[in-house]
Amino acid sequence: MAVHPGGTVRLGDIVDQNLGCRYPNLHVCDASVIPEPWGLPPTLTLLTLARYLARILAQGSATAERK
Ligand SMILES: Cc1cc2nc3c(=O)[nH]c(=O)nc-3n(C[C@H](O)[C@H](O)[C@H](O)COP(=O)(O)OP(=O)(O)OC[C@H]3O[C@@H](n4cnc5c(N)ncnc54)[C@H](O)[C@@H]3O)c2cc1C
Repeated sequence: MAVHPGGTVRLGDIVDQNLGCRYPNLHVCDASVIPEPWGLPPTLTLLTLARYLARILAQGSATAERK
């Protein structure tokens, strides 16, 4: 899509459900992970995606601190 591009690093393809990829500690969190042609204003979706990843990262660091 011209105004709302996405899908260049698709969820379920290059990134997993934790927005991680095959390189440790490298996450992708932007419109590129949207798996299908979008065509809609994505900002609200991307904000919630950032919140989702923040929770995952916070859980990971909490687990690391306990070790
Ligand atoms: C004219 C226009 C109007 C829009 N209006 C709306 C709207 O009303 N509502 C809505 O929801 N959406 C709107 N959108 C769409 C929305 O703004 C974008 O789709 C959204 O911002 C994409 O978010 P993103 O995080 O994927 O990419 P971006 O917001 O483009 O963020 C990418 C970031 O990566 C940085 N970057 C790029 N390359 C590198 C690099 N090599 N190294 C380091 N950093 C890099 C860039 O500087 C940028 O900060 C509009 C888009 C346009 C163009």
